[in-house]
Amino acid sequence: AVDAAGLTAWVTEFARLVHEQRDELTRLDAAIGDADHGANLDRGMTAVVAALEGGPADDAAAVLKTVATTLIKTVGGASGPLYGTFFLRAAGALDGGDASAFAAAVRAGLDGVAARGKAEPGDKTMLDALTPACDALDAALAEGRDLPDALRAAAEAAAGGRDATVPLVARKGRASYLGERSAGHADPGATSAALLVQAAATALA
Ligand code: ADP
Ligand code: MG
Ligand code: MG
Repeated sequence: AVDAAGLTAWVTEFARLVHEQRDELTRLDAAIGDADHGANLDRGMTAVVAALEGGPADDAAAVLKTVATTLIKTVGGASGPLYGTFFLRAAGALDGGDASAFAAAVRAGLDGVAARGKAEPGDKTMLDALTPACDALDAALAEGRDLPDALRAAAEAAAGGRDATVPLVARKGRASYLGERSAGHADPGATSAALLVQAAATALA
């Protein structure tokens, strides 16, 4: 369910995946950035898990808000404020504990990332995983599929979006400084964002 415990399970699973994939995220950022994305997110999500363990929130929106403020405080770089914005906007939009409330919250988070980073799909950023994931989630729920099934569709869409960043030339963030040389590698932020959606499919099932 999309309650405080479910959302805590989601971000805890995301933290686990980020820790497990830390070296891969760093390797991707070494290719087209400054080789810190794995370390940045692992540091941030480790702090998130500690914050949630330290003061368990019984309110679902409060869980997301704790994630946001902790990431903004601890991650730095481009991805800290952007992931922070995602969770802060999602917290503000969360209104209820059902599948459609969750879908609306993550859509608000996505819109927040796009506004804050002034990026759009195709710019080779985390939006390239998050946007197809939100679209797939909405479409699956509109077809009447249940949340676990819809989240599996969203995770597949996120992975597809991540893979589709490989040939793209980056137009935002550090990778954009490389121009054409940014093509040929998956975007680190799209790769971590696909883990975020995968974690939802695992933990909110
Ligand atoms: P930094 O680039 O400051 O070292 P990270 O390495 O932690 O920060 O994160 C890099 C990721 O941030 C990129 O792979 C990209 O997905 C994402 N990113 C960078 N700039 C933007 C932006 N303007 N909008 C959306 N995502 C962005
Ligand atoms: Mg970096
Ligand atoms: Mg950096």
